[in-house]
Amino acid sequence: MKIRDIIRKDVPTLSMEVFPPKTDASIESVERAVDSILTLNPSWMSVTYGAGGGTSAHTARIASRIKEAGVPSLAHLSCISSTKDGVKKELTRLKELGIENILALRGDIPAGSENAPRDYKYASELVTEIKQFGDFCVGGACYPEGHPDAPNWKEDIKNLKTKVDAGCDFLTTQMFFDNETFYSFLYRCREAGINVPIVAGIMPITTELQVTRALKLSQAFMPAKFRSLVDRFGSDPAAMKQAGIIYAANQIVDLLSNGVMNIHIYTMNKPDVSSAIQSALRGLV
Ligand code: FAD
Repeated sequence: MKIRDIIRKDVPTLSMEVFPPKTDASIESVERAVDSILTLNPSWMSVTYGAGGGTSAHTARIASRIKEAGVPSLAHLSCISSTKDGVKKELTRLKELGIENILALRGDIPAGSENAPRDYKYASELVTEIKQFGDFCVGGACYPEGHPDAPNWKEDIKNLKTKVDAGCDFLTTQMFFDNETFYSFLYRCREAGINVPIVAGIMPITTELQVTRALKLSQAFMPAKFRSLVDRFGSDPAAMKQAGIIYAANQIVDLLSNGVMNIHIYTMNKPDVSSAIQSALRGLV
């Protein structure tokens, strides 16, 4: 099923992201985690694409497993390190597997190769190509706090509009920990004429180590109340896990209360955390 049709139903959705293993050796443990998350019956499940495409076969395999289990799957695909031929092969494989949804990404530019010649410069080019290739529902990434490479807000929103106009059916946000940031972003998007659904990405932070990693990856702003939580519970793993789950659930309750209908959880392949959040939201989504 296409995500644009699920979103159109005008009922809240709760979708979940998983990531593939970096090596063949760990595929089975990842598949076990995926199977557990599938039992939560999320609205759809997305599967990330390893930087450089090294794990693309795993992305396709897991996306296919999700679809076969009856849950709509969304395969991520990045283009910065790909050739046009490579992208065509990926699209052919996804089509053959019956995957209907793709999150079209640029990917991070590998350090030291900023000026290297490449087939793709921006995700919008990939969006155009996917739309020309076949009948996929296409999503794009967006950044409530601005993309780190963008010179300023205005340019970033202008570039986002170009990407959406190239054919995005929906957007999914980078993680954020302060809902006010998301609400301002939403306002700027609508003001700029970006009218596709914007799915809010929520990352439950359940370990102290994850705080540093997630903030480095996303460069997200850490509100004082979240900092206090980590200061208070960070050194106690069980308490930190519980506090992180509650923080994420509260963020989602606030989003739902403010009319944000589509929530995406970055599960980090943790079925127990995903399940706890879903339980906290029972009856709301
Ligand atoms: P783009 O939309 O191309 O934007 C990148 C930068 O270029 C922005 O600063 C933008 O303002 C600028 N730009 C865009 N178009 C133009 C233009 N025409 N002229 C000038 N500037 C322009 N990475 C992975 O490797 N694998 C994944 O699976 C993955 N999943 C992700 C999922 C989500 C929801 C998000 C938010 C990010 C994900 N990423 C993933 C990370 C993403 O690949 C990086 O953040 C990357 O740096 C940007 O990708 P993009 O698709 O947003 O790029």
